[in-house]
Amino acid sequence: MSTHTLHFFERVDTALHDATLRTALDRATARFVGNRARAMSALSDADRLRDQARALRAHALSRLDELLERLAERVEARGGHVCWASDGEQVKRYITDLARSRGVRSIVKSKSMASEEIHLNEALEQAGIEVVETDLGEYIIQIAGETPSHIIAPAIHKTREQVGALFEKHLGMPPTTEVPPMIRTARQALRQRFLRADMGISGVNFGVAEEGAIVIIENEGNARLTTTVPRIHVAIMGIERIVERLEDLGVLLQVLARSATGQKLSVYTSIISGPARPGEADGPEEFHLVLLDNGRSQILGGQYAEALMCIRCGACLNACPVYQSIGGHAYGGVYSGPIGAILTPLLQPDLPDSHLLPHASSLCGACQEVCPVRIAIPDLLLRLRADAVRAGKFHPIEKPAIQGYATMMNNPALYRVGGKFAHLGARLLRRKGRIRRLPPPLHLWTRGRDFPALPAQTFSEWWEERERQRRSG
Ligand code: SF4
Repeated sequence: MSTHTLHFFERVDTALHDATLRTALDRATARFVGNRARAMSALSDADRLRDQARALRAHALSRLDELLERLAERVEARGGHVCWASDGEQVKRYITDLARSRGVRSIVKSKSMASEEIHLNEALEQAGIEVVETDLGEYIIQIAGETPSHIIAPAIHKTREQVGALFEKHLGMPPTTEVPPMIRTARQALRQRFLRADMGISGVNFGVAEEGAIVIIENEGNARLTTTVPRIHVAIMGIERIVERLEDLGVLLQVLARSATGQKLSVYTSIISGPARPGEADGPEEFHLVLLDNGRSQILGGQYAEALMCIRCGACLNACPVYQSIGGHAYGGVYSGPIGAILTPLLQPDLPDSHLLPHASSLCGACQEVCPVRIAIPDLLLRLRADAVRAGKFHPIEKPAIQGYATMMNNPALYRVGGKFAHLGARLLRRKGRIRRLPPPLHLWTRGRDFPALPAQTFSEWWEERERQRRSG
């Protein structure tokens, strides 16, 4: 079910009350966090590698225009076609026109967040073209009629019991909760699709300017089939996903795989530099590279430019206590978790409640701690919160509440009286050492969690007593 029509707080509420979702998230995020920690600690120079990765991304972004032009020139020199797309509409038009002109009826896709971002599947289906996702997680959510809830594990929100039920219903598989028979069933269903597809659409992990090539990393082998079996391959790349040289991949692929899944390297790394050359047995007849801007060039050079360094490893999602509790759909946009709370307001500002997403963070810093390119995520979240306030996007109660708080904190007499009232109220509301329900408007705080009971003494009482004791002796 898509939850996008619900308000952000309703989506969060729904997620917090979904026990199955919590089970699935607990299992998966704990595994990812553990795997990442083990993989990074096995490196003697993890910090240096992360610094290098950051420097490479910063360097590429500082020369983005030049590197993109070099990439496009070289792709074209090798017989590929390049489409510069300023927004999603342009991409959808380009691909549907291409598909129509080449008589394409069936498309296989390998995971591409950029295509999710522009809702490409809907456009192709409306044009009467069959589209099948071939990444196992994407395939699961496609048959479930859902959207991805994680950058690298799109079906992370599903338990194996739910996947078993889906396969039973849609693929006629006998009931099971065992993973291997599910994988076999999906593979058999997908093989037929690869064989009859006329076009393959993939994402791009990195574009390499010097080589005029794109790099796709994956663990299932489906991207290789998507990009080589059909007669046309279309790759969609967010313009920021570029590196200068092939050597840069030595650093980036290492930190990406370790941060994402805890692997030293992903199982398959494909470097694709155009259509099949004359005499080559494998590869598509046509190769198209779509360079998608969709708001990225607006971010470049500004106070949020750092967000473009992201290499989509998903580590910040797994480490985030908020993501662990609510999952990806609650964020409402294509990108979820801490980096999604930054990218969504920037790339999808029209989403009605995108300005609320930067508040979906405890600012604990766990995201920055694990980010392989050291993006200062909490800082960016705070800046976005400040921007939203400047734009007048805040709850009417916030301003008087903060003004009242400031007045009280600046006035010792008021502070003491306020403290006494707070203590009295807290004593009345306290049950077994916790406050389960605060009165409005603070009830929003206790809707999803308890409030710790205040200690018996106020801070001023405690301080006076401490001073008394110190003086006496
Ligand atoms: S912000 Fe950092 S940790 Fe999060 S997905 Fe991007 S690269 Fe990975």
